[in-house]
Amino acid sequence: MALPAASRQEFRQEFRQDLADIPILEDAGSVRMRSRDFFWFSPILKEALEDKRAEIIAVPRNKADVMRIAAACARHRVPLTVRGGGTGNYGQAVPLAGGVVLDMGKLDQVIWHKAGAGRFAAGARMLDIDRALAPAGHELRFYPSTRQHATIGGFVAGGAAGAGSCTWGQISDPGAVLAVEVVTVEDQPRVIELTGRDVLKVMHAYGVNGIITEVEVPLAPSHPWCERIATFPSLSAAARCAQTFTECDGVAKKLVTVHDPQVVPFLRRLATYAEPGHAMAIVMVSEPQADAFELMVADHGGCVTFRRTAEDARKAAFAETSGLQPLYEFTWNHTTLHAIRIDPTITYLQLRFPPANNLELVDWVAAQFHGEVLLHLEFQRRFGKVTCSSLPLVRYTTPQRLDNIMAELNAEGVAVSNPHTFVLDDAGWKRVDAPQAEFKRMADPYGLMNPGKLADWQDTRELA
Ligand SMILES: Cc1cc2nc3c(=O)[nH]c(=O)nc-3n(C[C@H](O)[C@H](O)[C@H](O)COP(=O)(O)OP(=O)(O)OC[C@H]3O[C@@H](n4cnc5c(N)ncnc54)[C@H](O)[C@@H]3O)c2cc1C
Repeated sequence: MALPAASRQEFRQEFRQDLADIPILEDAGSVRMRSRDFFWFSPILKEALEDKRAEIIAVPRNKADVMRIAAACARHRVPLTVRGGGTGNYGQAVPLAGGVVLDMGKLDQVIWHKAGAGRFAAGARMLDIDRALAPAGHELRFYPSTRQHATIGGFVAGGAAGAGSCTWGQISDPGAVLAVEVVTVEDQPRVIELTGRDVLKVMHAYGVNGIITEVEVPLAPSHPWCERIATFPSLSAAARCAQTFTECDGVAKKLVTVHDPQVVPFLRRLATYAEPGHAMAIVMVSEPQADAFELMVADHGGCVTFRRTAEDARKAAFAETSGLQPLYEFTWNHTTLHAIRIDPTITYLQLRFPPANNLELVDWVAAQFHGEVLLHLEFQRRFGKVTCSSLPLVRYTTPQRLDNIMAELNAEGVAVSNPHTFVLDDAGWKRVDAPQAEFKRMADPYGLMNPGKLADWQDTRELA
């Protein structure tokens, strides 16, 4: 898509003049790297997005810089795509129309925190937030397995769940985000505070309708999270143990993951902790209560094969030691990353199992698609019920076959969200009551923000 200025050269000069001393990156390497995310997990998105690039990367140092960049984009009608850690999987952070990528990495302050809540600048990385909270005995309720690089703003705008969801649910659940500060992209940008249900306006909106500059979330009291790996003779046995453990409200837990026996060999560094053909459960549990988990493992015919103390797990997470990375980096969508490194033809899907019959459906999927859809289960507590979701590995053949698998799963009652599209509305699970397009008309009147990601908007936007 062409830039609105007469020529690229002219655009750069005019834009630079407007931005004055705000740091800008224009070298080909930086522009390429910061125009990408992990869309290449999908063979379909890889083909569609590989060559998409911004014109320049703007790196604001503070909110005032963000507002100047937003004003300059509005004035020159330049597309603007916000970037946090760039760890999204659907090309959400890929600029489809060139223009500016706004790298939020320097807005990384902890603004305040107290028991129960904290407020953070949007570019703060989630691992760094937890590092800052630790001395006060607080922690984020949940984080994606990309905790090391993902930002709190990117998680709100593009993420869903992760370690902690076994206790606290998902980012879209009521009360999971208390407030969001947003800068509009107008000739005179405004700063808007969204609270209550209004946060849904920008939640999981891929940054199409405002630049999130601050995020306020509830915090949990921190626990000494130790790590355990347990193995089981079958996926079914591991899943039933994980379900029982997650339902056990009296045990404080941060992570409950189960890997099908076919997935385990892809987790190269963990494979030695399971006999061939065995399923694997990975948990983070409050150290004083680890025995409760171990007893449940024995009850379900399993065996604990790996134990790491909370202190050693903490050091692994905060990179204070070399050696095995934190176990949450072998769960959620890190599983796909490990698998693709071994077999580049692997891709993945996103499934949610209804709480009423999740384990029966897990058994059905495992049998129906054996060898093609390889399950790993992420156990979660939502709205008082325990269920699991999955980002199963898929042995990819054709787009048609992928569509057929999704249709068959949906027909059986497994909710599928399609991770092979960058269009927000096409992914499934979208909240129909989230007034994102409506908010966009106000916060982004020229339709400059992350163009191409919101289908409803495409007809009316006026980009060349
Ligand atoms: C290996 C791997 C594992 C993953 N595991 C998980 C997981 O466990 N759970 C999960 O939910 N996700 C997971 N993801 C996806 C991703 O890591 C998370 O969603 C993460 O929270 C994204 O944060 P980010 O800062 O990298 O966002 P980015 O990728 O930079 O951006 C995501 C979207 O938000 C927009 N955005 C970013 N910052 C802002 C802002 N300040 N204002 C407005 N819009 C903004 C971007 O334009 C983009 O559309 C995984 C991805 C990978 C590659």
